[in-house]
Amino acid sequence: MMSPLPASSATVPGVEAAFRAARAEAEARDRADPLGHVRERFLLNEGTINLDGNSLGSMPRAVAERMERVLKQEWADGLIRSWGGAEWFRLPEIAGDRIAPLIGAGQGEVVVGDSTSVNLFKCMAAALAMRPERRVLVAQADNFPTDNYIAQGLAELVPGVTLRAVDTGQALIEAIDSSVAAVVLSHVHYRSAAIEDMPAINRAAGASGALTVWDLSHSTGAVPVDLGGSGADFAVGCTYKYLNGGPGAPAFCWVSPRHLPNARQPLSGWMGHQSPFAFDYGYRPAEGVRRFVCGTPQILSLSALDESLKLWSEIDLSALFGKSRELTSFFISLVEQTCTEFGLAVDSPRDPEKRGSHVILRCKHGLPVIRALAAEGVIGDFRAPDGIRFGFAALYVRFADVVRAVEALHRTLAIRSWNREEFNQETVVT
Ligand SMILES: *Cc1c(COP(=O)(O)O)cnc(C)c1O
Repeated sequence: MMSPLPASSATVPGVEAAFRAARAEAEARDRADPLGHVRERFLLNEGTINLDGNSLGSMPRAVAERMERVLKQEWADGLIRSWGGAEWFRLPEIAGDRIAPLIGAGQGEVVVGDSTSVNLFKCMAAALAMRPERRVLVAQADNFPTDNYIAQGLAELVPGVTLRAVDTGQALIEAIDSSVAAVVLSHVHYRSAAIEDMPAINRAAGASGALTVWDLSHSTGAVPVDLGGSGADFAVGCTYKYLNGGPGAPAFCWVSPRHLPNARQPLSGWMGHQSPFAFDYGYRPAEGVRRFVCGTPQILSLSALDESLKLWSEIDLSALFGKSRELTSFFISLVEQTCTEFGLAVDSPRDPEKRGSHVILRCKHGLPVIRALAAEGVIGDFRAPDGIRFGFAALYVRFADVVRAVEALHRTLAIRSWNREEFNQETVVT
């Protein structure tokens, strides 16, 4: 158990006053928060503030009970009978239907399974197959690495395909010409949190005959997404981030109902077959989005995710998205009032409408700073070369947590606790 954070060590009078005012404001905001009660649904260590829920969301309490049931009743007792009896077989679609309202998708349009990386492969390959006369994939050069690594792998695998990596925004729209089969990009950028203009990019792609493949990893459960209404073609996303599915929880995949009858993905495993238990020789894809399932679903992690997703049906999404924006704005404002003397600079959009639910700060000794903060129970992460990133999952982060986190950040920088040797060792994971 972490001990509670010590009181602020701020000595500069203006800084101390800013923290005092922020504590009072946070208290009032938390009291008025219509989502405040949702926090109780999570199993949280009160000494730890999870400002990395955009990387690994906290655990809903109900998951522990569900896992107990899945392990002891469904698996140990039920054995193979649970494939039908406990709905294991349909779990990819059941979980998908719970995600659908969060991304502007309809029932029967989303399926869960495999990782985001694997689903990117399926969707890009399906898009290439739908545009056989076009052989260019447009990608965001600074997208999360796996998106571009998968695109590179696909370009090596499929003869004639080339990758056109461009800057985001206008450059990306200008890169879409008649040779482009698909555009692959993130909706909310993993570093800056900048939100792409989904309707504009879908329009530009649609007008030139190209398809869009959206990565919603940092969007789902954090900002409004309207895949159907904005004319998107394909989408994938992580579920262990704002959806709290647990480490390595399977990803989701959405295919526009316009394309479903024609969309074919090459990982044509038996679980995406029209009738897997006919044990036919030839592959016939299932009717709906089930055809994007490959092999046997990961029932343990899928069950944990399914339980986490139940929470969302009770959430007022506009209140949630509003709170996300307020939390990030509150954080930015407090950092700027108290920490700029240490050379910190906000590297996320200032306009909350153009920003996802995390904030990245440029910070010279970012990695040891993040480690020193973690030792104090404030969890953020480091993104090379100099970014310290903090996510604000509005289901369980309070305004008071923002103040405590910035106080800890200020203290770390003021007393240079990041300078200790233990925070400056090399590790594989940052
Ligand atoms: C987190 C994240 C991923 C992760 O992909 P995995 O296959 O789950 O490792 C992919 N893309 C983006 C944009 C992400 O933010």
